[in-house]
Amino acid sequence: MKMSKLDKLNLSLSKLGFGAMRLPQKNGEIDQEQVNNMVKYAFNNGINYFDTAFVYNDGGSEIALGVALKQLKREDFFLADKLPFWQADSKEYLDNTFNTTLNRLQTDYIDFYLMHALDREVFENMMKYDAISWAIQKKKVGKIKYLGFSIHDDYDFLLEVLKQYDWDIAQIQFNYLDLEDNPGEKGYLELSKRNIPIVIMEPLKGGLLSDIPDNIAAPFREIGGSNVSYAFRWLAEKEGIVTILSGMSNMQQLEENIKVFEDIKPLSEDEHKAILKVEENIKTLQKVKCTGCRYCMPCPFGVEIPDIFKAWNTKAMHNSSNWISGTFIDYKSAGKCVECGKCMTHCPQHIQIPEMLQKVLSEKIKK
Ligand code: SF4
Ligand code: SF4
Repeated sequence: MKMSKLDKLNLSLSKLGFGAMRLPQKNGEIDQEQVNNMVKYAFNNGINYFDTAFVYNDGGSEIALGVALKQLKREDFFLADKLPFWQADSKEYLDNTFNTTLNRLQTDYIDFYLMHALDREVFENMMKYDAISWAIQKKKVGKIKYLGFSIHDDYDFLLEVLKQYDWDIAQIQFNYLDLEDNPGEKGYLELSKRNIPIVIMEPLKGGLLSDIPDNIAAPFREIGGSNVSYAFRWLAEKEGIVTILSGMSNMQQLEENIKVFEDIKPLSEDEHKAILKVEENIKTLQKVKCTGCRYCMPCPFGVEIPDIFKAWNTKAMHNSSNWISGTFIDYKSAGKCVECGKCMTHCPQHIQIPEMLQKVLSEKIKK
């Protein structure tokens, strides 16, 4: 496994991080046995960075990861977790949430504690409850080792966040399709310039960059190599990126990802050109920039938002007049949307969800 040396923190992190946002499921529940096996396999193959959040699977991710990590010695791995300020309604919320996280994960401390999914609104709430002073206190007593943030907003807002504290780490969404915003390439360059270690989320854009139909990924097929390897290698060669998270849902994905990181090489000029071409191909077809993160769920009116968007993009990418079987659960639930707007307050991609749902309905849908 390729490792990243963080001189600033005197640590060594695996270049591939184990993201626990899309853990394997069985009968609608997290498959604990598979999680245990995957965590063990990941660790035995050099992964030492495990990432979860208070809200993933409504707490199920923290619980499952806590159980699986019991197989390892606590000092042998790094645990990252995140506090969701959009739910905070009192000062006590911070301690309560943090203590719940420790209990669920069966640990006494968190290595990397992040202010989760910051945007202007979430940030306002974070400042209202004086969260940075609170976190500094936790650092002093060893409950938090390093303090960071994850962000889903523009470059100017990133600068605002950077003014508030000398952050130990930052997590951003970045991949060869997400260059413009959120905070995009400019954000990445800013963090790199300031020597803040960068963790990447959504390197495969919720699977969109791995499940590319062959006609769209033709430039990759011509020169050889998997879709996944190009997405990872594009990031891995960038200065300042210390860990690339992948939310793996089964052992096969984990094995494939580890293989890429075992002997990761810089991209050649031809490979860079192929990526640009594939990026262009996807952008002309993609319907909606949904990553499938599910922060918008549940919709109180039963709209299956991420499933609908996934199927819509899949249909467009495969140039199919029909919805692709097996990718779609209930597109008709788009019609249940009453435009209450609740989902949009949580969408890190700032998607105009009700408007997009109307577009889905207005297409001539055949099953
Ligand atoms: S705007 Fe529509 S999809 Fe979003 S939460 Fe409200 S009803 Fe559900
Ligand atoms: S609509 Fe937004 S919040 Fe919902 S899954 Fe997609 S990206 Fe995530």
